[in-house]
Amino acid sequence: MTRIVIIGGGPGGYEAALVAAQLGAEVTVVDSDGLGGSAVLTDCVPSKTLIATAEVMTSFDSSYEELGIIVADDTPPDKQAARVVGVDLGKVNRRVKRLAVAQSHDITQSVTRAGVTVLRGKGRLEGRQDLDGSRAVVVETADGENLTLRADAVLISTGATPRELPDAQPDGERILTWTQVYDLDELPSELIVVGSGVTGAEFAGAYQALGSRVTLVSSRDRVLPGEDPDAAVVLEDVFRRRGMNVMSRSRAESAKRVGDKVEVTLSDGRVITGSHCLMAVGSIPNTADMGLEEAGVKLTESGHVKVDRVSRTSAPGVYAAGDCTGVLMLASVAAMQGRIAMYHSLGDAVQPLNLKTVSSNVFTDPEIATVGYTAGDVECGKMDAVCVKLPLRGNPRAKMQGIRDGFVKLFARPGTGIVVGGVVVAPRASELIHPISLAVDNNLTVEQVASAFTVYPSLSGSTAEGARQLHIRKREGAESGS
Ligand SMILES: Cc1cc2nc3c(=O)[nH]c(=O)nc-3n(C[C@H](O)[C@H](O)[C@H](O)COP(=O)(O)OP(=O)(O)OC[C@H]3O[C@@H](n4cnc5c(N)ncnc54)[C@H](O)[C@@H]3O)c2cc1C
Repeated sequence: MTRIVIIGGGPGGYEAALVAAQLGAEVTVVDSDGLGGSAVLTDCVPSKTLIATAEVMTSFDSSYEELGIIVADDTPPDKQAARVVGVDLGKVNRRVKRLAVAQSHDITQSVTRAGVTVLRGKGRLEGRQDLDGSRAVVVETADGENLTLRADAVLISTGATPRELPDAQPDGERILTWTQVYDLDELPSELIVVGSGVTGAEFAGAYQALGSRVTLVSSRDRVLPGEDPDAAVVLEDVFRRRGMNVMSRSRAESAKRVGDKVEVTLSDGRVITGSHCLMAVGSIPNTADMGLEEAGVKLTESGHVKVDRVSRTSAPGVYAAGDCTGVLMLASVAAMQGRIAMYHSLGDAVQPLNLKTVSSNVFTDPEIATVGYTAGDVECGKMDAVCVKLPLRGNPRAKMQGIRDGFVKLFARPGTGIVVGGVVVAPRASELIHPISLAVDNNLTVEQVASAFTVYPSLSGSTAEGARQLHIRKREGAESGS
């Protein structure tokens, strides 16, 4: 029986464990914090649970008047808060933590039911391969014992940890990382979010919806510098319209507590004050002190494990998956890299990782979902594609629901009409991107997308309409010979 040891039990690790067990290997997962990893315990699941509350707040708050809903309130006008709905953050956070722990428990159950051994502790590689090709993994267990496991293949899937700035050390009370916000019992009255990438934007939007006054400090020209520029513009407009103070081209140098306030100093000397500060300035891979380089595993300058498209590292028999590789920091990609590693090491059929078919979503309001080639790829000539963008305000369902912001964008090859990418900016865009994902993954043409029925009225009608418009453009191009 092939012995597999997996260090780190997040999506990269536990999904790999399930596949390896199904393929008949003897599998051990070593994890220091609980199966599901940061994805389940501190990052993905908790943030999306918090955002679920924020989403209900925003959709009610922003549309109840237009939709004719009356809120019965006997409070005299001078005593009424500006907002109609409020939130009990302590209750929200207790729900968040309960769901996270329950999901970790469910994952542990399904992994152990599949025959995998789960060890609580910290794992590291010990030296190089033995003559028989096996390796040693040393585990410092939760009760301080040291165990040595022998493995024919090892998967490193240890994830990443929030990056901290030397002069903005989190204290867990007022200066916070995204893993610490769920200990708050009361809503921050004035939250400063440092960092306008996906994590910063998601939390800024969520806390704004929950009722905090939010300042978003962005070192770049606009929020979400890595996303579709049109989508980022829509989101920034919405943020500002709802009262968020978005500070562009502003780099935070330090954050310190002053009594029950936090002062954030920017690189140009300006100081901003809030009740709390959330640092969302990226993450660093959990690859230190794991014996990786001694075992022949090459790391990048940033400390990520170098891997190829079948998750092999530079050391024979050592694979790596997920955030510790820095390939694409998504739970879905971590899981796929982990599965691919197991298919490869256990000799099953394997498809190398293809990042161009990954769909991803920014869970703001509106959400931003993306798949395939991007506007940037078209602009720099990496992909020759024509593009159509349909604002949602022309969509009948959007009008009925009072949705004003957002669009559907499709990219297709000019000659064949094959769909190569798409962006949806809408409420629940994460659900609406799937047909475009299917098209990209299966090389469907705009004609095939256009000919599938959509429900009337529906937001997905805009995807079909976009495909129809690209078909017309293709015909006109063919007729004019261009
Ligand atoms: C706020 C936030 C929200 C996010 N939301 C989403 C989302 O909505 N969708 C999405 O796809 N992605 C999301 N992500 C990204 C996603 O969480 C990560 O891509 C995913 O967690 C990566 O999985 P992983 O298996 O690589 O590592 P992790 O989930 O980080 O798991 C690694 C595990 O390894 C353990 N470990 C570390 N070192 C050792 C060691 N030496 N020995 C034993 N165990 C060890 C850790 O304790 C942890 O349990 C989000 C990220 C953040 C920060």
